[in-house]
Amino acid sequence: MKLLQEEIIKNGKVLSENVLKVDTFLNHQIDPVLMQAIGNEFAARYKDAGITKILTIESSGIAPSMFAGLTLGVPVVFARKRKSLTLSDNLFTSKVHSFTKGETNDISVSKDFISKEDTVLIIDDFLANGQAALGLLEILDQAEANTAGVGIVIEKGFQPGGKLIRDKGIRVDSLANIKSLANGKVEFFEEETV
Ligand code: 5GP
Repeated sequence: MKLLQEEIIKNGKVLSENVLKVDTFLNHQIDPVLMQAIGNEFAARYKDAGITKILTIESSGIAPSMFAGLTLGVPVVFARKRKSLTLSDNLFTSKVHSFTKGETNDISVSKDFISKEDTVLIIDDFLANGQAALGLLEILDQAEANTAGVGIVIEKGFQPGGKLIRDKGIRVDSLANIKSLANGKVEFFEEETV
């Protein structure tokens, strides 16, 4: 997605060969115009997939998911990373290890919001090692829901997550796919990978 690539080039900060900071439009300050364009792009790609829910993970997946949900006319459910006082035992849970933060979180979704009647599009901000996406896929497995695919705002294609998920036969749509962050420079794969 050209608009997104331009924004990454303009405002993304390469923190290391593995980490890109996008605090100006996605991870801290949010650009609603860009998020709407991203949400619409996911919605267009999945318009014929019979989506009934979008599943994401707090917090940075929520903004793009909201716009996709608005356009597709479906609810957005976000997995929680912390136990909530108002959440009970009625939960699907899985473990997600974050290599960036060096910690493992239990993530959970109430059984009230995903069921085997659902066809679900997963959306997240980044795809790196694939652990967050795998955790969300496990929740859909527990719910016996249909997985339509995984929509990613920024894939780091030089890390193993994309292959891991695609090798399971799951559709992955990334709107920007980074080939390299070497020498402080962002380089994209020419073709978006579906
Ligand atoms: P994964 O589970 O695929 O390794 O990583 C997914 C999560 O890690 C994303 O939801 C995102 O929060 C975080 N993450 C991984 N790599 C990056 C990165 O380069 N930049 C930022 N801002 N977040 C990242």
